Amino acid sequence: HRYNIAVIGAGMAGISAATALIRAGHSVKLFDKSRGSGGRMNSKRTEVGDLDMGAQYFTARDSRFRHELKTWLDNGWVAEWAPALYAYDQNGLRSAADDQQRFVGAPRMTGLTRQLLQGLDFASQTRISHLVQHEDKHWLLVDEQQHQHGPFDRVIVATPAPQAVALLEQSPHLAHAAAQVQMQPGWALAVAFSDPLPTPVEACFVRAGALDWISRNSSKPGRTGQDSWVLQSTPEWASDHLQLDAQEITRELLAAFAEVIGCSLPEPLFTHAHRWLYARPADACNWGALAAPEKDLYVCGDWCMGGRVENAWLSGQQAANTLMEKR
Ligand code: FAD
Repeated sequence: HRYNIAVIGAGMAGISAATALIRAGHSVKLFDKSRGSGGRMNSKRTEVGDLDMGAQYFTARDSRFRHELKTWLDNGWVAEWAPALYAYDQNGLRSAADDQQRFVGAPRMTGLTRQLLQGLDFASQTRISHLVQHEDKHWLLVDEQQHQHGPFDRVIVATPAPQAVALLEQSPHLAHAAAQVQMQPGWALAVAFSDPLPTPVEACFVRAGALDWISRNSSKPGRTGQDSWVLQSTPEWASDHLQLDAQEITRELLAAFAEVIGCSLPEPLFTHAHRWLYARPADACNWGALAAPEKDLYVCGDWCMGGRVENAWLSGQQAANTLMEKR
């Protein structure tokens, strides 16, 4: 049977579910509240180049994901990034080279999701506010302008947990599960300099102070433009500084950055601060995906498996498979 399926959320989980269902011959429509796709695999286009403000890179451990990744690499949608890796703690900065393979979208993080969405039926800038199930079991999606979309035979909700709760009202047990999941905030600061900073650091795990990660964005494959960096705060620091304005965030995170790399910073050419309210799930669940098959309602997202790109993809595959297993 060929189903007409709605997927809400065009991040890695939603795109993964959508592509698996289309490969199996189903008809899928994707919805996202944002203008572009990719969700937390976000990049910002700026005058100093494309800056990855969300996921910094991804790893590939599961054999199914590695198999898919090979196609993406062959197509040039993804490239390996092997930064000069450092770690910083109370004892200072040291090299932390490892043999972990790291991958990024090319030539920006959203390069991958944009390619994966090619040819898919995608409604952007459409925030779904609730779902209505008719007596004949068909679903209608209602957006914030009160426009209705559908009817659909099946719905997959692929948004972060806090945003999924309202969409899962028709299934109290799914809504309850999503409401249990805590997602942590994070601040990301992009900064660029006209002359490259005199440091060999291209990436750094930080284990002291406000920051937990530093990327030299311009060291990623295919990125052009100035010497650009993305600094990410710890979730704890973000929770304590959620309401600070962008100027204060910039001042504090640049001071922490200067301390890590051990040099005084010239006046930046560009800065941009982004607050993620739902950056990563606080705890890893092991659900894979969630389902209310009697209602033809399915849920996926990184929070169903642990907050990483690979888990979002695997969760999307699992939601699609669970949907297709039901006769
Ligand atoms: P999302 O990407 O959040 O996609 C959900 C989509 O749903 C969004 O596009 C959103 O706009 C849309 N949406 C929400 N509500 C609605 C609605 N009502 N109607 C319509 N659309 C809606 N992972 C790694 O593997 N490595 C990393 O280095 C890494 N670093 C990270 C750094 C930061 C700062 C952040 C924020 C995340 C990082 N992650 C990292 C995590 C990774 O980005 C996520 O695990 C993954 O991208 C989540 O994909 P998803 O599809 O589950 O959710």
